[in-house]
Amino acid sequence: MIDVAHLTKCYDQFTAVRDLSFSLGPGQVMGLVGPNGAGKTTTLRCIAGIIPPTQGSIRLGGVDVLAQPAEAKRQLAFIPDEPRLFEYLTVAQHLNFVARLYGVSDYVARAEPILAELEMTDKKDMLPGELSRGMKQKLAIACGLLHQPKAVIFDEPLTGLDPGGIRRMKEVMRRLSRDGTAIILSSHLLSLVEEVCTHLLILKNGEKVADGTVAEVQARYSGGSDISLEDVFFRATGDVEQRPS
Ligand code: ATP
Repeated sequence: MIDVAHLTKCYDQFTAVRDLSFSLGPGQVMGLVGPNGAGKTTTLRCIAGIIPPTQGSIRLGGVDVLAQPAEAKRQLAFIPDEPRLFEYLTVAQHLNFVARLYGVSDYVARAEPILAELEMTDKKDMLPGELSRGMKQKLAIACGLLHQPKAVIFDEPLTGLDPGGIRRMKEVMRRLSRDGTAIILSSHLLSLVEEVCTHLLILKNGEKVADGTVAEVQARYSGGSDISLEDVFFRATGDVEQRPS
């Protein structure tokens, strides 16, 4: 569903991502983790067609992002950590607008259950300025899911959500996975990654240091003992763990 082959991205002379390859199938949920500056956002922006790769190819649902950008983007929803909304459109108008962009004809019927799942039904007539940060985040998610994408990228999806919103967000990710959606979840919250991800990709300095199923990556770094994903992260990246003194 998401196929990245030999992706390299340079900003001038600086190589932010180097020769990265991975594939993600339907229903798989991949945690993309790595220290600050590892190249996660750069990778996600290339996959979403926001910036062009310097080298390599990306296919979404079999469609090449560079060769057929519009068709490839139909396969995908990219939910950034900072929701970008239109100040003068209500929640319902946002959904109407996105439905028209993607040619979703039965948008009301599709929007209703998504809004209900995100507990936003009673916010339909509100403008972004009247929504809390978490509600804006949920609206961005509702807009992203309206055209039933085969692949969804979540970049730090829990930012600004309250405990109820966090639980709901995890349920949404699990539901999407059950329905066959491939998901990339980029987050520094390793407990979230541990809870919802089936697969893991660890980046450091723009390079892949580990990938596979969560169990495979854990086994590679566990040394036979039962260790947390946090321990795996520190062992894989070679970062010094900061423990409170
Ligand atoms: P974080 O966890 O801090 O969000 P990240 O893993 O998402 O980090 P990126 O934002 O992809 O990392 O950045 C990777 C590297 O590329 C960093 O060294 C960053 O300074 C550099 N970089 C990112 N965007 C640009 C840009 N537009 N121009 C030049 N360098 C950039």
